[in-house]
Amino acid sequence: MAKTPTDKQNPATKLVTAGRRPEWTGAVVNPPVWRASTHLYPDMAAHKDGPRRNEDGRFFYGRRGGPTQWALADALTEIEPGAAGTMLYPSGVAALAGTLLTVLRPGDVLLMTDNAYDPTRVMGMNLLKDFGVETRFFDPLDVAAFEAMICERSRAVLLEAPGSLTMEVQDVPALTTIARSRGMISVIDNTWASPLGFPALERGVDISVMSLTKHVGGHSDVMMGSASAGTELYARLRRTAQALGQVVSPDDAALVLRGLRTMGVRLKQETSSALEIASWLQSRPEVAGVLCPMLPGSPGHEIWQRDFLGGCGLFSFVLKGGDADGRARFIDALQLFGIGYSFGGFESLVVPVDPAPLRAATPWPSAGMNPADRFGVRLSIGLEDPADLIADLDQAFAEMGKP
Ligand SMILES: *Cc1c(COP(=O)(O)O)cnc(C)c1O
Repeated sequence: MAKTPTDKQNPATKLVTAGRRPEWTGAVVNPPVWRASTHLYPDMAAHKDGPRRNEDGRFFYGRRGGPTQWALADALTEIEPGAAGTMLYPSGVAALAGTLLTVLRPGDVLLMTDNAYDPTRVMGMNLLKDFGVETRFFDPLDVAAFEAMICERSRAVLLEAPGSLTMEVQDVPALTTIARSRGMISVIDNTWASPLGFPALERGVDISVMSLTKHVGGHSDVMMGSASAGTELYARLRRTAQALGQVVSPDDAALVLRGLRTMGVRLKQETSSALEIASWLQSRPEVAGVLCPMLPGSPGHEIWQRDFLGGCGLFSFVLKGGDADGRARFIDALQLFGIGYSFGGFESLVVPVDPAPLRAATPWPSAGMNPADRFGVRLSIGLEDPADLIADLDQAFAEMGKP
């Protein structure tokens, strides 16, 4: 049975068909969990041939994975237009490390968006620094400043759109066009949108990284990361990942693959609920501003509208004035939002957000914001009824107001 080509399918259909090669799944719908470290060769000739072709679909030894991992990597490649292959990593941070160690060498400069995920910033300032790579941060919304920072040694740019915590949406096509013209490789942390909301390679990015822990896993019970790229960079990612001994378990791959099948409907529901809740928050007297890319007025909203095909349930808002104690009363009073990191699970989450110390290029609160409004809250909207979530936020605001 030949595999149906996915290039003509719409994304919702691809999510159902991707990665389900009959030679990996057999007669069942999902690929079985192939637990294997050792692959037995039938004879010496097969043994000799084993390592020759280092590619998914060819058994060698457990470190190069088996059908369960290959099915997931294949599915992720199929939903990322322009990708030739996908590497899997034990976490999103491992995917970012594997990617940056692939494209950077001692003496290089990495330009990083100033709203990047904090552990990515820390990786730049510590691990990469120790390997002789210098990381410089640029304002996520300032394309001219980015261009002005490029020097002879600039080798790669790390984008994140929208960025963690403060959610500014970058002009990815403009930034990647400049990067390419200066011989730089562009990498995006595409965890927020996934390729369903932002087909990164089609928008000019060279390597698209995701924390599969979030939307793809979708159930807060598994950690994994991925990096997808075209032929040449995929081959380089693969060499580095194998040199670092990066491998994911088939059990985890099966869980992530299960999450992938429903990611489209979950994202749609979470986006619609998030918009409803973000609009409601915008009308509240306790709120100074809502940082939600899907909402007009949020930084980079016009770019989101131009370049993105969808959103998700993750956004932040800033309290009007107030203090840390009031914010703590508000968060403690929430019943339906667990206090915890991560997002993209079926359940709603909340964390306090204090971006000021995480900025190097430009200060936060940014120009145009009132400096007194600096206590942020980040919500990850899950699959609960948005009316219940709004009622919960409403009663928590009442608690916050109590002295
Ligand atoms: C969570 C997250 C990561 C890291 O992923 P892990 O799977 O937790 O290691 C990277 N980038 C972004 C934007 C994230 O939200």
